[in-house]
Amino acid sequence: MSIENLLRENIRALEPYSSARDDFSGSASVFLDANENYQNLISFDNINRYPDPRSMAVKKAFSKAFGIDTKNITIGNGSDELIDILFRMFCECKKDSVLLMPPTYGEYKVLAAINDVKVYSIIQNSDFTLNVEKIKNYLDKYSPKLMFICSPNNPTGKSVPLFVINELANYNKGITVVDEAYLDFSENQSAVSLIEKNERIVVLRTLSKAWGLAGGRIGIAITSEEINNVMYKVKYPYNIPLPSQLCAVKALENADKVRSEAKQMVIERERVKCELSSISGVEKVFDSDANFLLVRVKEADLIYQKLSNKGVIVRNRSKEILCSSCLRITIGSKEENQLMLEYLKEALSEL
Ligand SMILES: *Cc1c(COP(=O)(O)O)cnc(C)c1O
Repeated sequence: MSIENLLRENIRALEPYSSARDDFSGSASVFLDANENYQNLISFDNINRYPDPRSMAVKKAFSKAFGIDTKNITIGNGSDELIDILFRMFCECKKDSVLLMPPTYGEYKVLAAINDVKVYSIIQNSDFTLNVEKIKNYLDKYSPKLMFICSPNNPTGKSVPLFVINELANYNKGITVVDEAYLDFSENQSAVSLIEKNERIVVLRTLSKAWGLAGGRIGIAITSEEINNVMYKVKYPYNIPLPSQLCAVKALENADKVRSEAKQMVIERERVKCELSSISGVEKVFDSDANFLLVRVKEADLIYQKLSNKGVIVRNRSKEILCSSCLRITIGSKEENQLMLEYLKEALSEL
């Protein structure tokens, strides 16, 4: 199935908006083409000008940090925007469907609902591996336009082996979205290497986690050139504010530092995992390839409340499928983690 045939009809025929900065990209000293204020009213260089619609500086910095060609990169206003763009590119309202494997990131389902697209869910096995046979069954039966694989997965921390992703993506005639928001914390190989042989794979990254730029809203889609071109037609013209573009370039230029911090985070995660396992009332700490741990405790709702009362906020995931009585705990600074461990121990001892 070609990408062109998978696209929504109206997207296939779409004439993209052409912004002033698309029409002129050289250097000049008088810009009277975009109805901007010629004065800079606050002391932030160039904030009176529209930002680069293609975020070229960010793309180049990302390209340099990861060895991926800029032609294959789309910069989005967080991964959220990129996921929304994929829905709008590929899914007809009330007609098409997508496939999710819960427990997973909640935003897929929200954006499906916003776009009026049906969701089929195949619950993971109890050890958080994917039910490959059942997934293939559903792919045959329902031909979903998008299939989301989150690896390492949120909230479980579990990675999907690359050969499984490859097998499923090849079987899937629609688009396979591999969300690698937490790959910076994992030793696993990226699904980017699979795109060359299967252009229906879209890999998502973000600067919101390891890169420390959640407030900057920078998501990255790595795709075939064909999908990339359509994503740039569909996205809002000025989707990334100038301050965010500058912050992203700055962060990406510090790749070495970010990578060594991520390594430290992994060491600290394993230390916290060990400490958690020794607390009575902690029933299970799941293995994690991310910067958080999923922890099954006695009376999760009550423990969550007690931690909150002490000012330590974790994520209560106990209502999620397969995650009964589980908290998701992000790895913070060593001091923050110690406080969390101390209060958790205290709260569990009071049960
Ligand atoms: C945090 C997270 C993201 C990042 O979303 P942004 O919009 O880029 O901040 C994406 N996917 C998953 C699974 C996440 O947990």
